[in-house]
Amino acid sequence: MPRKVKYLSDKGIPAIWFCQGNHLEQGSDFAPLAIRKGFLLGNHSFDHPHFSAIKIAGCLEQIERTHWLLESLYLSERIEWSPRYFRFPYGDKGDVRVKKAIQDFLRRMGYVAAPSAEIILIHDHEETSEYFERIVERLLEKGFSFELPAR
Ligand SMILES: [Zn+2]
Repeated sequence: MPRKVKYLSDKGIPAIWFCQGNHLEQGSDFAPLAIRKGFLLGNHSFDHPHFSAIKIAGCLEQIERTHWLLESLYLSERIEWSPRYFRFPYGDKGDVRVKKAIQDFLRRMGYVAAPSAEIILIHDHEETSEYFERIVERLLEKGFSFELPAR
């Protein structure tokens, strides 16, 4: 991960890193580095469950645990955490009632809905690490440019 941060930073490519709390808890130097390099971190739950498979309270706990980890990282770096985005693991928003409860909760926690945009989503798995730079290079060659959603 630090290599990806450095790679994108050197290329001047902005990105939002949606983080799982359990990974943040392991305390790698990735998150502080990403914040210092001007990237935005987002909340991607604590350990990536299917939200449709757990109770609402469990969903909220997933969000909240990761929220406080991110909050404390930003506080340590003395950088304002804004805007705050959340992504559902697997894009699984549960049923309508769950989705509504979570959206209300997120709003109270200061999260905003990301404007719709074309998103390039790359999960940080071993398989993607190998291809990450090649994917970005190809996109640049094809004339793509990268920007964060307008605030
Ligand atoms: Zn995911």
